[in-house]
Amino acid sequence: MSTYRQMCLEGEKKLRDSRIEEWKLDAWLLAESAFGISRAWYFAHGEEEAPPEQIQKYWEWIEKRSDHIPLQHLTGQAFFMGMEFSVDERVLIPRQDTEILVETALEKIKEPIRLLDMCTGSGCILLSILYLAKERGISCQGIGADISAEALEVAGKNRQKYRLDARLVESNLYEKLEGDFDMLVSNPPYIPTGEIEELMEEVRDHDPILALDGREDGLYFYREIIKDAHRYLKPEGWILLEIGCSQAEEVMKLLTEHGFTEISVKKDLAGLDRVVTGRRKAIRKQEEEHV
Ligand code: GLN
Repeated sequence: MSTYRQMCLEGEKKLRDSRIEEWKLDAWLLAESAFGISRAWYFAHGEEEAPPEQIQKYWEWIEKRSDHIPLQHLTGQAFFMGMEFSVDERVLIPRQDTEILVETALEKIKEPIRLLDMCTGSGCILLSILYLAKERGISCQGIGADISAEALEVAGKNRQKYRLDARLVESNLYEKLEGDFDMLVSNPPYIPTGEIEELMEEVRDHDPILALDGREDGLYFYREIIKDAHRYLKPEGWILLEIGCSQAEEVMKLLTEHGFTEISVKKDLAGLDRVVTGRRKAIRKQEEEHV
């Protein structure tokens, strides 16, 4: 027989011994999910005995986490922009750094817009923008595109949960899309192929390779997205791209070469370059094809 407190302490020890970076936090989050408890409840009832079937689940998770299976794959959930998204091995786990992209997008949304999220994965970017804009009384329409039908199944589940007006399209980049968006957002795969081997085990072995691999120099998807963006963005429409921290200069250069203006870069909480933004010029119809 074990109490909640004993189990949590043992879980912490096991994760620490297995060199899990955030051992204390992870042990707690797994306890929260396996036992269905809150912090406040735990402080009042920690010395009570935990039900054996919940202990079994908790311990199973602790052992898997010790093997570097990501926490979010065990609980099936990831928190992003204060929202709860379903995730599994079919999608990239939403990252906190990506919240900068969403916040930057929300700052620019003052009226209902048409939004395109390229490489939508779990749908976390698309759905959080739509949801938070709606909370501010702005009903936007959105499309999430992804080459992976499997990823779109996960995005579909998340869309259903938040009941949002979003269309999910299986498309290799722009292939199946039609234009006229006010804003294009994307967190495309951007790790150079040769650097994937060096990533943390949790990322390298558990995030889908398709969601990570930005080809030889990591910039393949930026080139493809930026090259055709003017066909899908309205004049004065915004493009917002999450980037790897060493890619700002090259992505800004690509935007400049393709006629974008108001180009700027935003840093993440660690002070690293994270989001590059640009705007399509205001131009007359007949000039469009020559941008
Ligand atoms: N848009 C999703 C996210 O940011 C997926 C990104 C990807 O698969 N590269 O989490």
